[in-house]
Amino acid sequence: MARKLKVWVDHQACVGNAMCESIAAKTFRLNDNRQSEVMDPTANTEAEILEAAENCPVSAIFVEDAETGERLFP
Ligand code: SF4
Repeated sequence: MARKLKVWVDHQACVGNAMCESIAAKTFRLNDNRQSEVMDPTANTEAEILEAAENCPVSAIFVEDAETGERLFP
C-alpha cells in the first residue's frame, strides 16, 4: 500500500502557473485567486506528486511522509 503523504502549498510563494495542476490534477487545483490548493493527496501517485513539486517554478510545494514526518520534497 502506498504511504500517506502530507502535501501543502506555500501561498506566499505560489505564482499560479498551474504546472502542479497539469501534472497531478486530482491533487492540486487552482482556487479563484489562482493559488494552488491541495485537494486530495491520495488521488495521485507519490511519483506524480513529487514530479509536480519538482516542476513548481518557485518551489512552493512541500511533501512529507505523513506518518514519519520525513521530508520528501524539497
Ligand atoms: S506549480 Fe507552484 S507556482 Fe505553479 S500553481 Fe502550482 S504551486 Fe503554484
